[in-house]
Amino acid sequence: MRNIPFFPYPQLFTGDEDALLEVMRGVCRRGAYILQKECAEFEQAIARFLGVRHVMAVANGTDAMVIGFKAAGIGPGDEVILPSHTYIATAAAVQWVGATPVLADCGSDHMLDPLDIEHRITPRTRAIMPVQINGRTCDMDAIGAIARKHGLLLCEDAAQALGSRFGGQAAGTFGAFGTFSFYPAKLLGAFGDAGAVVTNDDQVAARIRLLRDHGRNQEGKVVAWGLNSRLDNLQAAVLLHKFGSFGPDLERRRAIAARYQQRLGGLPQLALPPAPGADTRHHDVYQNYEIEAECRDALREHLAARGVRTIIQWAGTPVHQFKELGFSVTLPRTDRLFERCLLLPMNTALDDADVDYICDAIGSFYAGT
Ligand SMILES: *Cc1c(COP(=O)(O)O)cnc(C)c1O
Repeated sequence: MRNIPFFPYPQLFTGDEDALLEVMRGVCRRGAYILQKECAEFEQAIARFLGVRHVMAVANGTDAMVIGFKAAGIGPGDEVILPSHTYIATAAAVQWVGATPVLADCGSDHMLDPLDIEHRITPRTRAIMPVQINGRTCDMDAIGAIARKHGLLLCEDAAQALGSRFGGQAAGTFGAFGTFSFYPAKLLGAFGDAGAVVTNDDQVAARIRLLRDHGRNQEGKVVAWGLNSRLDNLQAAVLLHKFGSFGPDLERRRAIAARYQQRLGGLPQLALPPAPGADTRHHDVYQNYEIEAECRDALREHLAARGVRTIIQWAGTPVHQFKELGFSVTLPRTDRLFERCLLLPMNTALDDADVDYICDAIGSFYAGT
């Protein structure tokens, strides 16, 4: 029997241990811990990769959203429309700047449904926050058209979508700002928390630089209120090193998705994510491989008994189901999705034999039901 974890955390380090130790030794021997060369180089590398003017590395992906909203002037009295199928962090960031999160339903590809946005717009709506989930980008033509028609800002939570593209344009670069997370299990993972805000707007970028470092300008003078959300240079150095193999890493994820598609596409009990290249507008990078499955919970147990660990995203609870937070909206398609959705293992440590083993285990479950 194989033992396939959902995500192999130690592998982040052990997969390239000697080189990573060398990187960390270099930083620590220089005593270069905060806002140093590696941080600036990492920001520049991400900026080139995305084709965006400004990248500001911050402490984590949640801070990235809070700081982005602050810099874009979103605050008390404003409403922000976002999907319920997201991490609590997205809604919490809206809440933390004093604005109100307004939750919307998802479409058949699990992304924010453009058709569900417009009737949630009120005179207080300031922004739409599409979440580029599972390594896919929303239909930004449709969402961009709604934003333009109603004069709304677009703010992207691209925490799960570094390298994903829609119509050739990188996730995170469509609106006022976009945010990324480098949490260990993300597409590009640090050895702890890490994040970034990206923007093409010079003024928003300048405000973000102040906000993340106590409102201090380049001369070190305090010129605004800020906070401490700097990315540790040690993490920046690790990320910069890992970014060197990011292109092949994304290609490997797409190859795994293609293999899942080939092996599982014939099972009528499953609905799979769009295959790589299935839709020419989308370039998906498969942060996650989120399927819908009949008898989902029994399938999970069947797989666990065969050493294959799966998870349900957000521990099974989309944001609108957190009644303690005061949400009362009903979102039937999100509710239905969360009775059926399941994340299969998807990471660069999987080899083809692992993927085949997982697919065989799924096949044996449905053959037996
Ligand atoms: C991971 C994630 C975040 C938050 O990032 P952190 O770095 O953990 O703060 C936000 N939104 C989505 C969709 C995420 O997956």
